[in-house]
Amino acid sequence: MAKLKSVYICSECGYESAKWCGKCPGCGEWNSMNEEIKETVKPAVQPSSRTSVFSSPQLIKEIDTDDEKRSSTGSNELDRVLGGGLVKGSLVLIGGDPGIGKSTILMQVSNHLGGEGKKVLYVSGEESKRQREKIYTCTRRPIARRYAS
Ligand SMILES: [Zn+2]
Repeated sequence: MAKLKSVYICSECGYESAKWCGKCPGCGEWNSMNEEIKETVKPAVQPSSRTSVFSSPQLIKEIDTDDEKRSSTGSNELDRVLGGGLVKGSLVLIGGDPGIGKSTILMQVSNHLGGEGKKVLYVSGEESKRQREKIYTCTRRPIARRYAS
C-alpha cells in the first residue's frame, strides 16, 4: 500500500530528514533543506510459519484423520480416552478433583515417553520437589503392574 510522505533533502549533501531544519545536520549548510514528496511502499505482510499451517479453510468431512500418528501414553486406558494416544502438536487438558491422581498419571506418561527416547518437560507450579520425587519413584514401576497391585 503506497503512502505519500514529506521529506526534506539537503541540496548540498543529500542528507534526508523527516523534519525541516534551517541548518543541514549533514553538512552544516544553511537553508539547503528542500521538501520533497516521497511515496513510501509498505512491504506486504509476510505469512508467518504459524499462518501457513492453517493456509486454507477445509470442510470437516474433507479432513483426513487416518494419517494422524498417535503416540501411546503407556496406559491403555488413557490411550483409549484420547482416541488411541497422543497426537503430535495437540494439547490435552487433564482435569479432576485434588488427589485424584492427575500428577501420578502424567508422571507415568512422562516416564513412559522418556523411556522411548522422547524429550519430556514436566512443569509443576504446585508440588514441592519432595512430592514430585515421591510420585516419580512410585511411577518408576511399570504402569500395568502398578494398577494390578
Ligand atoms: Zn547537507
